[in-house]
Amino acid sequence: MLRTRVVAVDPLKPDEGLLEEAAKVIRSGGLVVFPTETVYGLGANAYSREAVIKIFKAKNRPMDNPLIVHICGLEELEMLASKLPDEAYEIAEKLWPGPVTLVVWRSEQVLKEVTAGLPKVAIRMPSHPIASSLIRLSGVPIAAPSANLAGRPSPTTAHHAIQDLYGRVDLIIDGGETLFGVESTIIDLTVKPPRLLRPGPIPVEDLERVLGFRIDVPDYARGLSEAKRAYSPGVKYRHYAPETPMKLVESDSYDDLAAYASKLIEIAEECSCRGLKVVIVASRETTRYYSARGFQVLELGSRKNLYEVARNLFKTLRELDEVSPDLALCEGFEEKGLGLTIMNRLRKACKHDIIRV
Ligand code: AMP
Ligand code: MG
Repeated sequence: MLRTRVVAVDPLKPDEGLLEEAAKVIRSGGLVVFPTETVYGLGANAYSREAVIKIFKAKNRPMDNPLIVHICGLEELEMLASKLPDEAYEIAEKLWPGPVTLVVWRSEQVLKEVTAGLPKVAIRMPSHPIASSLIRLSGVPIAAPSANLAGRPSPTTAHHAIQDLYGRVDLIIDGGETLFGVESTIIDLTVKPPRLLRPGPIPVEDLERVLGFRIDVPDYARGLSEAKRAYSPGVKYRHYAPETPMKLVESDSYDDLAAYASKLIEIAEECSCRGLKVVIVASRETTRYYSARGFQVLELGSRKNLYEVARNLFKTLRELDEVSPDLALCEGFEEKGLGLTIMNRLRKACKHDIIRV
């Protein structure tokens, strides 16, 4: 058990003194939990094999699930990658710093533990002021997955990271709630056309606009099937799952929400009749239908603002476990824009237990 320090840092005016202490922990091979604009990350010096291995131990993460390397300048991209394609520069110029991760061929500089032995490395330049200052002050790229125990919902507050990692890391920086609340979009630029490995805050439609051509969206990026290798986040392993058994209720169309809600109520009432305590995870638009029938509802946000739904998603899955019903029924969303990201996470969170109505 490690002695974990928790320090609060104002994300709008980060205290350089405190971040310099955190940077010292990184440089000396320790583990630091820090906020990014997506979710909290569990970081270590990407150039230290010993430090990187500690990440896997702290999270109970299988060693064949690679990490993302976080950088603060383009020189680091050029150092870590080889044979960089033009598309990497185009995306970096328009969308970095920000929530997009590029998968490119790796250079000799990259440890095999970071990429799980793959010849490709995942690289991102975060925009969160605490994350970028920490990387700059550390003077090394920071390898980091999300700061949760393997399989659990990603942390969007320091409190979530404390729940999972207290006693397993050296330092936790509390910088408040993260902005997007879901992990970065990951795009593989080593294949043609580029392939979406994980949908995230930047919708695939936006990436296509930047690149000027189509991006391949395989079934596993939609959360529909599991890839054979740990190509991408959560592609192979149990991910984002609450302890509470959850079923996702999907429909081809969410245009007639009253009709959709009444089908979901039918399922919920059938489960209640069997003596199960059911909680419904829903959008703001439909909450009242379920409450009117006496069901407890956890609200994700409005269908008209999917950023709100994404931001609340992991937090709500953790809240669900505090309520701890026998079963959760969760609403689905249209797979457009951020809806694809939300459905990827929900399909994995329910372990592919999907009911179509
Ligand atoms: P996490 O943010 O916790 O999901 O961890 C980082 C994710 O980035 C991993 O789950 C990986 O699957 C993905 N990733 C990292 N490196 C690579 C890579 N070389 N190729 C494909 N995906 C990667
Ligand atoms: Mg993760």
